[in-house]
Amino acid sequence: MSSNFPLNKSQLDNLIKDFPTPFYLYDEKAIRENMQKFTKAFSIFPVFREHFAVKACPNPYLLKILADEGCGADCSSMPELILSEMAGIKGKHVIFTSNETPASEYELAYKQGNIINLDDITHIEFLKKTLGKLPETICFRYNPGNEKTGCNSIIGKPEEAKYGLTRAQIIEAYKICKDEGVQHFGLHTMVASNELNPDFFVDTAKLVFELAAEVKEKTGVRIEFVDLGGGLGIPYKPEQKAVDYDVVAQGIRKEYDRVVVPSGLDPLEIYWECGRPITGPYGWLITTAIHQKHIYREYIAVDSCMADLMRPGMYGSYHEVTVSGKEDAPKTEVYDVVGSLCENCDKFAVQRPLPKIDMGDHVIIHDAGAHGRAMGFNYNGKLRCGEVLMRPDGTFKEIRRRETIDDLFATLNLEGVKDFH
Ligand SMILES: *Cc1c(COP(=O)(O)O)cnc(C)c1O
Repeated sequence: MSSNFPLNKSQLDNLIKDFPTPFYLYDEKAIRENMQKFTKAFSIFPVFREHFAVKACPNPYLLKILADEGCGADCSSMPELILSEMAGIKGKHVIFTSNETPASEYELAYKQGNIINLDDITHIEFLKKTLGKLPETICFRYNPGNEKTGCNSIIGKPEEAKYGLTRAQIIEAYKICKDEGVQHFGLHTMVASNELNPDFFVDTAKLVFELAAEVKEKTGVRIEFVDLGGGLGIPYKPEQKAVDYDVVAQGIRKEYDRVVVPSGLDPLEIYWECGRPITGPYGWLITTAIHQKHIYREYIAVDSCMADLMRPGMYGSYHEVTVSGKEDAPKTEVYDVVGSLCENCDKFAVQRPLPKIDMGDHVIIHDAGAHGRAMGFNYNGKLRCGEVLMRPDGTFKEIRRRETIDDLFATLNLEGVKDFH
């Protein structure tokens, strides 16, 4: 568990009077403080920017808070591009890192002046045909294949990943774009997901810096920014430790001094497009215990389900679970904490030691602020819950209402069905 829940039992009980469970709660103050720490660590580079991965938590209120802390946005679909613009994140502060991209999405990113990050060498021609020319700035996503080892299981081995260009292709790609008159260049890679080892990111930066130097040597193209992707992990489990941003930044700075400065690429702008560490630890799914079963195991059922938080069911991910008011109570029981979906993987916790849970207790699922509500779905007719923001002054604002049955049926032609035989 990487952060403390900000409300005691009476404060949470009061909040639930206004916002019945289930809902997501986000802590604005904690999000801002974390972002300030992140920015401070990377201020040892001439230019640094975090582009928040919108897919992790696509709510324009949160995007505005992050923009206020100096963040840009990383998008991979048209709605994400629109949300970023809506939150006032504009132009080059938006990186469009998409793959298998439809022409209409490139058109919007170009119109908004966003940085287009191409996922393949053939997309140069595709983009040129789409826009009638190439943009002034182009970035390429590099797939290091078997050059990069030690990648963890969520993202898999780079040589098996569908993303990016090979080393040979990427040199060729910069050459083509230079000949076509493109003026500004970036280089992107993303090879980790939820990685907690700082050395991993230092190694990735080294790889990217060395490639940027090689590109300059072989093609004369001066890469102006590198985007180190996302993948910085968070400690979901109590025994794990948060990544020390200063250690990552200082490790990368060493490689910068060793590779970037002598190759004449300084000042090279350093970008990230992290989602998970930015909002993950500062969002919680708040539920209420509504049933308990004693069969071959002990079950506690809450009023939410996998439709609100898919990670445990989909990846077997661990999320810390606490019971409001029983934070310090002895863990005398072993429960499976489950939701209402007709799928047996709909379990927020499996065989988890917990205090004795009574019906009506508020069960809090931690570290749900990234890839949580965003991954929700409507299978089984489940309506997704809403989102509440706790402001720095301690007040609360509903930043997304829960779904209604009308929302769920909105895409059906209900008029037509009456006369349908
Ligand atoms: C998902 C994703 C991110 C964000 O990843 P986190 O693990 O949330 O930091 C960044 N960039 C790209 C291209 C992604 O697909």
